[in-house]
Amino acid sequence: QIRVRYAPSPTGHLHIGNARTALFNYLFARHNQGTFVVRIEDTDTKRNVAGGEQSQLDNLKWLGIDWDEGPDVGGDFGPYRQSERRAIYQKYIQQLLDAGVAYESYKTEEQLQADRQAQKARGEMPHYEYEYANMTAAEKQVAIQQAQAQGLKPVIRIRVPQNKTFAWDDIVKGHISFESQTIGGDWVIQKRDGMPTYNFAVVIDDHLMKITHVLRGDDHVANTPKQLMIYEYLGWQPPKFGHMTLIINSQTGKKLSKRDESVLQFIEQYRERGYLPEAMFNFITLLGWSPVGEDEIFTQKQFIKQFDPKRLSKSPAAFDQKKLEWVNNQYVKAADLSRITDLSLANLIQAQLIDADPDLKTIEWVRALVSLFKEQMSYTKQIVDLAQIFFTDPQQLDETAMSELKKDNAEPTLKTFQAQIKTLPRFTATQIMQAIQATRREIGVKGRKLYMPIRIATTRSMHGPGIGEAIELLGYDKTQQHLTETLK
Ligand code: GLU
Repeated sequence: QIRVRYAPSPTGHLHIGNARTALFNYLFARHNQGTFVVRIEDTDTKRNVAGGEQSQLDNLKWLGIDWDEGPDVGGDFGPYRQSERRAIYQKYIQQLLDAGVAYESYKTEEQLQADRQAQKARGEMPHYEYEYANMTAAEKQVAIQQAQAQGLKPVIRIRVPQNKTFAWDDIVKGHISFESQTIGGDWVIQKRDGMPTYNFAVVIDDHLMKITHVLRGDDHVANTPKQLMIYEYLGWQPPKFGHMTLIINSQTGKKLSKRDESVLQFIEQYRERGYLPEAMFNFITLLGWSPVGEDEIFTQKQFIKQFDPKRLSKSPAAFDQKKLEWVNNQYVKAADLSRITDLSLANLIQAQLIDADPDLKTIEWVRALVSLFKEQMSYTKQIVDLAQIFFTDPQQLDETAMSELKKDNAEPTLKTFQAQIKTLPRFTATQIMQAIQATRREIGVKGRKLYMPIRIATTRSMHGPGIGEAIELLGYDKTQQHLTETLK
């Protein structure tokens, strides 16, 4: 029975990199009819943000990921929030203390700092120096009593064995090994506030939750030897590990970092812009994993069917926002008009171009607008710019457009067109095109000289969708008003 987990720390919104971790674990579980667990790793209380957990879970759901066990759905191995598992960790801390491989450490931050400086001066890598070195048991006891008398609170450290190799066969990266002396000395398993550290709690939880495979970010490679140590001390079998490749920003070639503002990195930001969750799911799955063949568009079902962690890539995955736009456009094109209309409506409301509580007529209007632009939209928020021509102030006409009108001696064309549309029985794209043709016959101009002045005068822009549709969407009154304004 395969059991995997996604273990977010509630430190903010769901990042693309974390979403990818969640998604690969999810696909792996579903492909093997295994169990997918969500566990909240909130022991670093300073870094937790209010609403962080909820936002993580909401965004996962939005992406179409569901889980079998977790803080909201429960399960046989709960609680699924580390902050609620302190008694559990305590038991194992005590066991390690009793075994003599863990101990109370009273070195203060200042002392540790001073140690590090001295080490630096000696050209050594920073490491913890054992505070009870060369002490007899009695001397150690005295040292501890003195520290306690000063009111110092201890952390609990774990002894790093000497001259030992910690190794594992990584599902993604192959064989990896670390020598114990590179670990940096005895490390903290319980902080002064009584909270376990990540590297300790993760082992206890993965073991008790019967996790069989740990697929996680490459940034955890260096944590793995520490975790293997704990497995060994407790006599437990570690799970299989797979560390997924880095994600790099395709524009800069640098590791994607949360501080890099040149690309959008949070699921929330894409959601706001009207990206479709299936498109995001599709795009993210291809970040560092490749299916057999050349296809790039897959449904979730197809991914589940195909998912094989052996196809996780060893080389960095390039995050290309343009590619994501392309993928999303494929999905927008294929989606129902109503669905894209709903998303676009939300974007237009948010941009305050239409009323928060639109009437039926407005909704129909947006529907027509969207059907005009659907093929070309990478994401629905683009509708805000695309629709701008229907909302601009008729007084606003840029210099280029103005000179275009003068150059083309537009007045007779516009006057004739204005008269023509007055006679139309219905103000539809087809009829409007007929009015343009009638204008052509009447004054004998054609092509660009005919269309461009009409386009500019009505939509106030030199670009846009089909002129008939654009003018229909603008509506009769506004069209007349814009023409009159131009002819002033
Ligand atoms: N809470 C850790 C993180 O957010 C999870 C690490 C792990 O999967 O072991 O990176």
